[in-house]
Amino acid sequence: RFISLEGGEGAGKSTQLAALAEALRGRGLTVIVTREPGGSPGAEAIRKLLLEGEETRWNARAEALLFAAARSDHIEKTIQPALDRGEWVLSDRFLDSSLAYQGEAGGLGIEAVRDLHRFGSLDFLPDRTLVLTLDESEGALRARARDGHLGDRIGSRPPSYHAAVDAGFRAMAEKEPERVKLIDASGTPETVTARLLYALGDLLP
Ligand code: C5P
Repeated sequence: RFISLEGGEGAGKSTQLAALAEALRGRGLTVIVTREPGGSPGAEAIRKLLLEGEETRWNARAEALLFAAARSDHIEKTIQPALDRGEWVLSDRFLDSSLAYQGEAGGLGIEAVRDLHRFGSLDFLPDRTLVLTLDESEGALRARARDGHLGDRIGSRPPSYHAAVDAGFRAMAEKEPERVKLIDASGTPETVTARLLYALGDLLP
């Protein structure tokens, strides 16, 4: 099975990814954890172009193309081979981040970014996408506590951008309710992990 974990800044994605992987391993599954952008040598190289260095600021279309190119490589080199071996794959971000960040917040439109994914990756989708949702101000607080700033690692985008990211994720959950589930990220880490597992209940052996 292929599961993606999504969420805005400071929602606790990294913590939950590790906890979820452990919980699934505890059920006897072989799990690999990967991330977007990145997850294969080529896609990690693109990640550097996207996330490192204030001097490389991409326009919205170029940024979306780079994410789509990275994802195509990530699927071919890492995700599909693991699925073929019968493993579970957990990805820290995937297509829905691009739909929310580049599509909704970046102003390209969700459909345009989905078209790039259709072209680049033949519309390959996760079996389930779990979106950690947190009151925006709480997310900003948590992110600031972690990074010393608003937690956005691609330059500094305004709060309105992050509100739009949130709206983008919610739109996806409405559009594809079977695949995309919103998960309340408030409360203790253990509570949140339990919510994630519950949302995978029908996929578990
Ligand atoms: O660790 P995290 O996944 O939060 O860091 C990735 C960074 O890349 C974040 O700052 C996020 O805002 C940004 N990002 C983005 N568009 C995507 C995926 C990630 O702007 N499609």
